[in-house]
Amino acid sequence: SLAYKKQLEDMRGKESMTQDGYKVELFANVGNPNNIPQVIMNDGEGIGLFRSEFLYLEHNDYPTEEEQFEAYKKALEGMKGKKVVIRTLDIGADKKADYFPLAQEENPALGLRAIRICLTRPELFKTQLRALCRASVFGKLSVMFPMIISSDEIDRSKDILQEVRNQLDKEGIAYDPNMEVGIMIETPAAAIISDELAKEVDFFSIGTNDLTQYTLAIDRQHTGLDKFFNPHHPAVLRLIKQTIENGHKAGIWVGICGELGADLELTEYFLRAGIDELSVSPPAILPLRKKIRSLNLSQK
Ligand code: PEP
Ligand code: MG
Repeated sequence: SLAYKKQLEDMRGKESMTQDGYKVELFANVGNPNNIPQVIMNDGEGIGLFRSEFLYLEHNDYPTEEEQFEAYKKALEGMKGKKVVIRTLDIGADKKADYFPLAQEENPALGLRAIRICLTRPELFKTQLRALCRASVFGKLSVMFPMIISSDEIDRSKDILQEVRNQLDKEGIAYDPNMEVGIMIETPAAAIISDELAKEVDFFSIGTNDLTQYTLAIDRQHTGLDKFFNPHHPAVLRLIKQTIENGHKAGIWVGICGELGADLELTEYFLRAGIDELSVSPPAILPLRKKIRSLNLSQK
């Protein structure tokens, strides 16, 4: 309605804060630097998930370091110093490209995808990390690894990042040495050992789309299982809460970048659990801010 539209308009420029002063960072999810104007228009306070897959899926061949660098730089400059969390390649499962050899698999969602591909093909990973490091001097960049299940994967990923930094040092190429390094919590394994993983990274971002799929053992693309699918399943909510607590015990920030972050029925639950950041699609930002501003957590 017109009145509701006006109420959303009024949310522009306001703080994402409850009536009793609990502040949340309200960020946007994007899949392409061309989406940045939409983030600005909807008053996004940063980007909490930049899906880098478009660089690979919208090309006929592997994107070069230069192509990637330009795309990341464009996103950082477009956000004018606000935080931009760029996720490294999350290809595989449902996301495929012709030039990219991926074997047919019985269970692609449980197969060679995301960080598993990057650790199997380090030269591919290095190209992306080099582009990210080079772009990091043009704004406030955080890098995030998807589909992590173990601290060994974090160690291996960070080792490769260190190799890239050493090489850049040798070449005299600038990068931000303080770039945050975080992981997605989107497997039950990662949520369950989040106390251990938190010691190794600067932040967690909870990917509720995959976390729900893997926790409930229900394919996220399956349309015939509605009777069994409960997006508010207590197992998923407990894993989220536990992840936030474990992150905070280690002193790192914790956000949500899956669809559930925009679910207004859960906003109060997430805030009470201590969430620091919510990253949602640009049109969901202002409704979520309105919801946050209506809450008073000091009232039971
Ligand atoms: C998720 O799994 O919740 C997520 C944000 O990543 P994607 O939807 O790209 O798998
Ligand atoms: Mg995911």
